[in-house]
Amino acid sequence: MSLLVVGSVALDNVETPFDKIENALGGSSTYISLSASYFTAPIYLVGVVGEDFPKEHIDLLQRFGIDITGLEIIEGGKTFRWGGKYHYDLNVRDTLFTELGVFENFDPKIPESQRNPDFLVLGNIDPALQLKVLDQIESTKFIVCDTMNLWIENKLDELKEVMKRVDVLIINDSEARLLTKEPNLIKSARMIREMGPKYLIIKKGEHGALLFSEDKIFSAPAYPLESIFDPTGAGDTFAGGFAGYLDSTDDLSFENIKRAVIYGSTMASFCVEKFSVQRLTELTKLDIRERFLEFLELSRFNEK
Ligand code: AMP
Repeated sequence: MSLLVVGSVALDNVETPFDKIENALGGSSTYISLSASYFTAPIYLVGVVGEDFPKEHIDLLQRFGIDITGLEIIEGGKTFRWGGKYHYDLNVRDTLFTELGVFENFDPKIPESQRNPDFLVLGNIDPALQLKVLDQIESTKFIVCDTMNLWIENKLDELKEVMKRVDVLIINDSEARLLTKEPNLIKSARMIREMGPKYLIIKKGEHGALLFSEDKIFSAPAYPLESIFDPTGAGDTFAGGFAGYLDSTDDLSFENIKRAVIYGSTMASFCVEKFSVQRLTELTKLDIRERFLEFLELSRFNEK
């Protein structure tokens, strides 16, 4: 078992209708690796931060057993910063600012000893960088990829190259529609799978997620949370739980991929309960297992 994660490591300012936080630990690879760390090891994180990145955040990643040999710290550089503001409808988010800092010249370098991971998770970064990562991988069993509207709108050619080389693409419903210009999600999913990925997961926020393979569809419910505090990182946390669970089982059957979708949803449901990565740092394996079992009950019914 081994899982390599490449993505952003960030300092986030987040405003919700309830509260706000500044300089919180964020970034796609942070959420992915913390989430996956409840399932598998070793986890290798490749990314970049500046000299301003607080040591306490490095310590936190290491406390969760995450190998940060591939995390570059650029002297005199500034860490990637992102600011977001959520509306009363927490599905609506405005990006307040994006300061690329050291991310602007990020050239991912995978340490030699990490070029044969069992699982590779390409967090949401420029698809040109995702291609650079793929070119350095010597062998792997399974590649999970996330992306966002920014790249669909601005780097479509590179994204299409990435899609030909990954096993699972994870996107949300609006991104699927944007990518295919097709409003019907089932048709859209078929079109996306024809672009390359064997499996596609379409997340629908508080309405759950759909998993598509060549001939099967699985619909996962969303966990009915009464208070959602901060949705930041939910998608990345989903990807981390999904990939971490699969890596821990060495079973790539459709039935097991369905379970992985539920573990991804379980982890995402925890993530949104508190600001930043806080909730992801205080879970026990029992908390996760119990909520996973609650998911079973949510949609189980008898024929008669
Ligand atoms: P999510 O809520 O899943 O979209 O993920 C939010 C995280 O993504 C935040 O912690 C941000 O720091 C990070 N992020 C936002 N925009 C970008 C971007 N353009 N590239 C890489 N990471 C980003």
